[in-house]
Parts: sequence; C-alpha cells; structure tokens
Amino acid sequence: MHRHCAVITAILATFCGLAAAQEQQLQWRGVWEWSMDHRTEAGLTAMADAAADLGFNVIMCSPPHGKLAFMREQCHARGIKLYLSTIYSHSDAATRQMMTAEQLASRPDEPVLGYQYGGEPLDDVEVFQGELPCWNQPAVREQARERTAAYARLPIDGLALDGIGYINYLRCHCPVCEEQLASFRAKHPRMGLRRSEELFAEETLVEFINEMAATAREANPEIELTIHIWPWYRPNPYYGHRLDLDTAGETVAWFFRPHWPLDKVQRRADWLVAHQQDDYPDHLAAPFIGFDARSTLHARSPKRVREELNLVIASGASAIQVADLGYIMDRPTVAEIFREVLGGRATNDAP
Ligand SMILES: [Zn+2]
Repeated sequence: MHRHCAVITAILATFCGLAAAQEQQLQWRGVWEWSMDHRTEAGLTAMADAAADLGFNVIMCSPPHGKLAFMREQCHARGIKLYLSTIYSHSDAATRQMMTAEQLASRPDEPVLGYQYGGEPLDDVEVFQGELPCWNQPAVREQARERTAAYARLPIDGLALDGIGYINYLRCHCPVCEEQLASFRAKHPRMGLRRSEELFAEETLVEFINEMAATAREANPEIELTIHIWPWYRPNPYYGHRLDLDTAGETVAWFFRPHWPLDKVQRRADWLVAHQQDDYPDHLAAPFIGFDARSTLHARSPKRVREELNLVIASGASAIQVADLGYIMDRPTVAEIFREVLGGRATNDAP
C-alpha cells in the first residue's frame, strides 16, 4: 500500500514537474477575445473562466470602460492580467490613409475568395478592405497620444495594440506622407526608390508604435505593453523586435486557408525567437496563432493545432499570443489541446 502510494507520488511529481517546466518556458500566455459577451458582468466572468481554464495568463479584450475594474478583479482572482485592446480607429476622412489610384481601382467592393483579412496576402495585388488613419498626420498622432495616455490610466494591467499597418500593406500616399518621403529621399540620395519607400514606411510604423509606448509609460509607469502586428507589412512583416514593447505578437499560423505549412510555422517562430532581443534586451517575441471556428472550412484540426503549439514551444519562445478565445471555446476538441499544452486552470498562479 505504502509502496503504491510512493510510486503514484513519484509519477505525479514527474508529471507536475514537466508541466511546471513547460509553464516556466511560456511565461506570458496571451489570448485575444472579441467574440464573447464582454458587455455584462456574467459574460466577463465567463471570459475570465475560459481564459483560466485554457491556461492563459493574459487576456486582451475591450469591455466597456465602466466594467474594467470589475473585469480586472475577476482576472486577478484567476491569476490573469487584463490588457485593453487598443485600436486607433479614426473616422475623419481628411486624415485617412490613401492608396494609389491603381491600388484603389483594384480593390473589390466585397472580400474575394482567398482574401486574408490583413494576414499575409496570397498575391501582389490584394489590399485591405477597411480604412486606417495615416500614422504620419499630426492630428492622428495627437489624438492617438491622448487616447493612449487616457487608456493607460484605466484600471487595467496592460495595453494590447492592434490595427497598426497600411491599407495597401506598403505605405500611405497622402500629401503629408509624400512630402515626408521626399525629404527622406533627399537625405538618402543613393538609396533606390523602392528601398527608400519601404524603409520610410517601416520607420513610420516603428516610430508611431514606440511613441505610443513612451506615452503610455509616461502616463502609467507600471503599464505592460503588447501588440499584434496586423495588417501585414509586406516588405518586412516581422519587425516586432524593433518595438519598445514588453512583447510583440507576430503571426506564425493564420486563421484562414490555405493554412500555413508546418515548416513555415516552425521557420517563422524560430526566426522571431532568435531575433527577439536584437534591439531591446527584455523584449519577448510572442508567436501568434490565429484560430477561427466559425466555419469548418477555416477551422484546423486539434492535431494540427497541437503541432503548431509544440513548434512554438520548440522555438524556445517565452511568450505566445493566440486568438480568439471564443472561437477556441466553440471547439471543445481544440480547447482541450490548449488546456493540455498550456497547463489549464491548475497551473495559473494565484495573485
Ligand atoms: Zn499619409
């Protein structure tokens, strides 16, 4: 009897040790939520329960601001941090991004088959279906700084930036950007037209995001910061290591078909982790896995999702980003994979 107990204890210790080791590696496990009820207290409690159940310790969502204190309490009781999803949507037509006439003409009225919704496009002509503000316009920056500072003072643990990119996946063609690009080119006379355009556009994104990070930290030095880099930036999609954020989510597996081959998942996760501290010593890459269960066409199998998660772990990543919590909960067989790989409720530390 005693012998049996000792054996069982040893097995349990080994199992728990392995689970703990795995949990230590993925210190930061963030999940985006946009498909559940985040308006009511019952809905928010269910969201916090779901995130804890699957083993996440950060939830990125946007409840009404009046419910944030309640939600943070719910999250903390389950060992989870609350990040406010932050999108700089902008309704003023005068400061929106502009495309070339050719790009505008090629944009279909409705998403066409194979449209990737801001993920890596399948061809060279796809453009984004929505509108985005121009990141170089002074009025946009001013409004974004004000919003960032105000958000950083809310009862939350972090900000999760999203939607910072270009509608043509390359750059903005508004008069302000054209003028700034011209002076950038004047400073780099030997640089080719294509290269200068790409570098200028990437600098714009990096500067904008880092300016918002500085603004958030000035308003609240304790605030934690992450991003999901989206829409796709065609010339250099993986620039997250250049961002002065605690973590940067960059896609290694996208929501929609054609699902990315596993060797692509592996190469991209490995690259992100290898370069995560190129610019900032404490920065962590958070390989991003998007999962969509709304149609059987796009949903991936539990086996496939497990392989993707294992590849992220094998890359040596200390952080992971996943979307969307509600879609995963809609597929119990896939939810079970997350629970197993991320450790589930039992491993979340109490505050
Ligand atoms: Zn512009």
